Amino acid sequence: MSVRVRYAPSPTGSPHVGNIRDALFKHLFAAHHHGTHLLRIEDTDRTRFVEGAIEDIFESLHWLGIQWQEGPDKGGAYGPYIQSERQAEGIYDRYIEQLLEAGHAYKAFDTSEELAEMREYQQINKQPIGYFGGVWRDASPEEVAQAEAEGRPFVVRLKIPRDQTIAIEDAIRGRIEWDSNTVDDPVLLKADRMPTYHFAAMVDDHLMEITHIIRGEEWISSAPKHAVLFDAFGWTRPVFVHCPVIKGKDGSKLSKRHGDTRCLDFRAAGILPEALRNFIALIGWSPGGDREILNEAELIEAFDLGGLQPSSGVFDLDKLTWMNGHYLRACTAENLTERLKVFLAHPETARYWEPRDPEKLAALHLLKEGIEKDEAYARQAIELERERVTSLADFGEATAFFFQDEPPFDEKAVEKWLRVDHAGDLIRFLQANLNGAESVSVEACEAMLRGYQEEKGFEKLGPVVHPTRVALTGKTVGPGLFELMSVLGPDRMRARLSRALERTT
Ligand code: GLU
Repeated sequence: MSVRVRYAPSPTGSPHVGNIRDALFKHLFAAHHHGTHLLRIEDTDRTRFVEGAIEDIFESLHWLGIQWQEGPDKGGAYGPYIQSERQAEGIYDRYIEQLLEAGHAYKAFDTSEELAEMREYQQINKQPIGYFGGVWRDASPEEVAQAEAEGRPFVVRLKIPRDQTIAIEDAIRGRIEWDSNTVDDPVLLKADRMPTYHFAAMVDDHLMEITHIIRGEEWISSAPKHAVLFDAFGWTRPVFVHCPVIKGKDGSKLSKRHGDTRCLDFRAAGILPEALRNFIALIGWSPGGDREILNEAELIEAFDLGGLQPSSGVFDLDKLTWMNGHYLRACTAENLTERLKVFLAHPETARYWEPRDPEKLAALHLLKEGIEKDEAYARQAIELERERVTSLADFGEATAFFFQDEPPFDEKAVEKWLRVDHAGDLIRFLQANLNGAESVSVEACEAMLRGYQEEKGFEKLGPVVHPTRVALTGKTVGPGLFELMSVLGPDRMRARLSRALERTT
């Protein structure tokens, strides 16, 4: 049987890395087995519906290159792929009827006050909390008919069998067992006739011929209910695969406290999709050995359930930063500039940085303008800085001195290197050498500085390099000096040198 898995998000917010990691696993698993990954939107809980969430789900998946073959946008033989549409077609009603007729489900007419009272009673008496039957589980057909005739609102609940062991075989954790007396009767159909997640998801998993339910560990406690539901219908259960939860470095569940968790925030922060994809694939899954950098094809090749770990995965931001640097260096120069253009033009980039670091945002604007004005020049600046940055967002500050007419001087650097005895002489030497030149090669820049070193008898190049760098960039740190000189070119260098000359005394 061919593998069929589903990513079934509820549009209750923008996907965070945990959701997206599970979606990635499903895509990789399906691709590895030449199976099908489908996208199903679970929107039956209208009270939790968040405007824009569906758009963010698609956007996150597209950005990370997570693929699916069937879904609301693609169609397929098992549609519709949006649960509210399936509900409107009466799909869930049909199956509810079947369960009611077979006695596996029952109508419960409890009022919210009665339910609150029950909970309170359970709390006081230290009993398991939940609905274990009340008066309706074993109510007579006459009592039910009477309540219905009175028009009382009701929900439909699953009749969990009592005094049994419910067991599932989890692909990662093996056999998991529950005493059925501890499993409460879940609502399948709400009073507004909408199915709950428990019901709609399992009916759809069956109808869509899902072979593996791959989902987060937080759903383990629901698994016995789902198993009972499959058994009640006499359907073959899919394989349950509960992926480990993602934790922060401090061991607590990943949350806003740890920084960004929303997938699209990583894009706005300047992370490349292939870096985030590679990084999240390794949270809770291992390809074996100590391989860490895996491209899409390698991930698909290596991904199987055997590599999934039962213990929680750790979200290590330092590792993501390292990986992003790796992928930035792997881009071609053209591709990197193109990606930066998209990044800089995206409104979410400004929305993200404005409240966090306005200076960084200003530097990103400068880079954007720089690219618009002279792309070839900007590309060379980007190329020189790529070894030194770890995110797209770093390029603004890193390349700023290339685009500023008068890059600000770091006063400490001025004190240290422009006040040395030979600084004025060195600057005049450079001015004389650049006189009339239209361009200057990296080699010529090196020869120029080495020429001055020899002429003045300096043992090392440092006393020549440092004042020159401060004069041209205002700072003591940056990319290779000869390279940056060549990129700046004679015109810019001349302007900067005259300005620096004034600071030598
Ligand atoms: N709609 C559920 C969610 O968004 C899906 C859980 C599952 O994969 O079964 O969490």
